[in-house]
Amino acid sequence: MKQSQLFTKTQKNAPKDEVSTNAQLLIRGGFVDKLMAGAYTILPLGWRVLKKIEQVIREEMNAIGGQEIFMPSLQPKENWETTGRWSTMDDLYKVKDASDREYALGPTHEEIISPLMKKFVNSYKDLPFAAYQFQNKFRMELRAKSGILRGKEFLMKDLYSFHISQEDLDKYYEKAKQAYKNIFDRTGIGEKTFLTFASGGSFSKYSHEFQTETDAGEDIIFVCSECSTAYNKEISDEISHCPECKNHTFHEKKAVEVGNIFKLGTKYSAPFDLTVMNEKGEKTPVIMGCYGIGLQRLMGTLVELCSDENGILWPESVAPFRVHLISLGKNEEAEKIYKDLEKKNIEVLFDDREDTSAGAKFADADLIGIPWRVVVSQKSLAGGGVEVKKRNEKESEIIKIEELLKILKK
Ligand SMILES: [Zn+2]
Repeated sequence: MKQSQLFTKTQKNAPKDEVSTNAQLLIRGGFVDKLMAGAYTILPLGWRVLKKIEQVIREEMNAIGGQEIFMPSLQPKENWETTGRWSTMDDLYKVKDASDREYALGPTHEEIISPLMKKFVNSYKDLPFAAYQFQNKFRMELRAKSGILRGKEFLMKDLYSFHISQEDLDKYYEKAKQAYKNIFDRTGIGEKTFLTFASGGSFSKYSHEFQTETDAGEDIIFVCSECSTAYNKEISDEISHCPECKNHTFHEKKAVEVGNIFKLGTKYSAPFDLTVMNEKGEKTPVIMGCYGIGLQRLMGTLVELCSDENGILWPESVAPFRVHLISLGKNEEAEKIYKDLEKKNIEVLFDDREDTSAGAKFADADLIGIPWRVVVSQKSLAGGGVEVKKRNEKESEIIKIEELLKILKK
């Protein structure tokens, strides 16, 4: 894409009321726009990042047998009354239409998927299976001040799994845990993300969160010094040693919850009478699990982790483009390289702007944070090629154009 065609522009300063690093950099770079506290428009550059994160998650969900669906955000009040959450869930958005009929704006979809599956599931032979979606969720968030880490409306991947027995759920739950680890590794936050024990509810002693260490975090976790498993503050009273390795020493860290997985048991299948016939021909409730990841939150956490004083440093796996090609002065060579890269399906943002200084172009490149910066100028061409620098490196080097195409094809 040509940068001259991009309708967004970078900004020197972020809005004064925006205190978080993630929102400051994402707004300045033209990735997102703040509509109001807790609600952000995703702009073209940000959408490319979010779509890449989405694709990594989709591949991992498909790998554990997830089938993708799409359920409505607008949900009938009756479903929420069936589980009792219409009156007990504090952060539920409730809306009314002109005929006084009431609806929930979905913060989660157990109330929709449980009755849905009643229509398709009759026998133990129909189990197990899992379905997931990417859907906008709504939460009445009164303290939305962490940029895109905490939204009133945000995109979430939610997977639900359905089982005949606790043992089968336990087995699937371990697979989902591994898929989550893969997602955080692949998106570049794996090293700082800890599997964290959290309270479990009636069906299991613990649930699990995935907590990423960052000063921007609003949660406190305690990380085992031996095995790096963590537990969160709400269960700190009931824990005396590491649930995985029995070690006693922990490090306290600030963290952001980037995902959670939960054994629901029959909590939602029972109220909707979601049952199957077991092998003996007896009616038995379906056992469920649920598994969530907030996409903007993952993107914001990435920015908190992968940035410096000049801007963002996107990992290659989720960068909006792989190459930022910068033309200094008018030169046909840059245009040619741009076309070559496009032809080879190497994603490139081409800074072809003619009215912008070299300094401003470099500042924009640092702010936007594309992994490879390639500068084409009379000077670089006289030196034998193009000037290449990775965003996370200080020094640039001149390499031949053919060499560049070879490196980037890898
Ligand atoms: Zn441990």
